[in-house]
Amino acid sequence: MSDVIAAQRTRTNWAGNVTYRASGLARPTSVAAVQELVSRTPRLTALGSRHSFNTIADTDALQVSLADLPPVLDIDTDRRVVRVAAGMIHSQVAAGLEARGWALANLASLPHISTAGAVATGTHGSGVRNPSLAQAVVGLEIVRASGDRVFVDASTPDGSLDAHRVALGALGIVTAVELAIEPTFQVATTVHLDLPWEAVAAHFDAVVSDAYSVSLFTSFDDRGARQVWVKHRTDEPAPVVDLVALGARPADGPVHPGENDPAGVTEQGGVPGPWSERLPHFRSSFTPSTGAEIQAEYLLPAGSAVEALQALRALEPVFAPILIAAEVRTIAADTAWLAPSSERQSVGIHFTFRRDADAVAAAVERIEDVLAPFDARPHWGKVSAASAERLHEAYPRLSDFAALARDLDPTGRFRNAFLARILS
Ligand SMILES: Cc1cc2nc3c(=O)[nH]c(=O)nc-3n(C[C@H](O)[C@H](O)[C@H](O)COP(=O)(O)OP(=O)(O)OC[C@H]3O[C@@H](n4cnc5c(N)ncnc54)[C@H](O)[C@@H]3O)c2cc1C
Repeated sequence: MSDVIAAQRTRTNWAGNVTYRASGLARPTSVAAVQELVSRTPRLTALGSRHSFNTIADTDALQVSLADLPPVLDIDTDRRVVRVAAGMIHSQVAAGLEARGWALANLASLPHISTAGAVATGTHGSGVRNPSLAQAVVGLEIVRASGDRVFVDASTPDGSLDAHRVALGALGIVTAVELAIEPTFQVATTVHLDLPWEAVAAHFDAVVSDAYSVSLFTSFDDRGARQVWVKHRTDEPAPVVDLVALGARPADGPVHPGENDPAGVTEQGGVPGPWSERLPHFRSSFTPSTGAEIQAEYLLPAGSAVEALQALRALEPVFAPILIAAEVRTIAADTAWLAPSSERQSVGIHFTFRRDADAVAAAVERIEDVLAPFDARPHWGKVSAASAERLHEAYPRLSDFAALARDLDPTGRFRNAFLARILS
């Protein structure tokens, strides 16, 4: 039997811009308890580490967190696969792997995000050869609407692994995730400042392909890319693009991409360190800012990057009062039906705004108008103004996914308002 905590006190997402309407929060402590809970609860929604910025993890029924399930980190060195408990956060998984000489190919910028939540929304890092974290999924243990525990992997008959990678919480409660791993590697992060727009436009592909993971930060003002983070994998050839020759200057100390203390960012200055301590932008040991922010992000075909950035510069006056930082990353094509980078090499344009919900909503509408010609796909875990119709255009497999969700969950046990809007 799991503990169900009545929602007598106000609970919010991490950013505080969504107040959950859920009637309660269950915190089962075993997979059997998850099964029992699912069997006897008409409607419930999985909750990860609460890092989404929209209502995707909310419900007017019961939320269920897997944070109290025992941690699991089983490495199969022959298969090069790790099995982890779904509620474990990136930093727990990364530290456990690194301690045993193993690595994931990539991580999100924040190490505090849950594994299942990141996978469920297509969360990604950066790198022209790095797809989303969901693409690293080899198999998923899931509690279905029936309460049955199933395992989905590449051998599952209907080929549904690609439907399950990014599942928005709609196909069941994921209790364990198997992820592809590789031997540990070292990464060195170097930061340059103020790469002019002309250089961004002329050399975008060369800059973002110059290292394992590259991020450009901008405010869309005249400074161009005010920070360029180059994360070089030390077992690969050294970067060759001379950012100084292109007009940038080396940072003379650690920098934060937003407005917070640089002490909270992972080590820069070209000092090599383990992947687990360099691929996230933020240190796991620091509380990552106050959370008083709202994020939006769009993934576009990679070839549209320069044109889209130029078009967005027209919105700089809209952004100026509310934008903390925008980040431009690249994401390799995923096979997952609903990954924002599904079947296309992508560029992600991300916005961290101040937590002014009305101003952000207005800005997001303007952004989506500007990005409409580029077939932009909104990130599932961030704010967006896109209609259900627009999401079906952006995600061509969304109708197939809706049909699968109806098959696997005919009574809508895992259906919340977010899903009802897009899957009906
Ligand atoms: C500071 C910050 C930095 C971020 N950086 C990045 C980044 O670098 N790249 C990026 O792409 N995104 C980033 N994000 C967005 C974030 O990764 C996503 O919103 C992600 O979904 C958050 O995971 P979560 O565990 O908090 O999930 P929640 O917000 O709690 O839930 C999200 C979805 O996952 C589902 N879910 C959660 N657990 C389970 C489970 N066990 N079984 C089934 N479904 C489940 C929920 O039902 C819901 O549909 C960032 C967010 C923040 C706040």
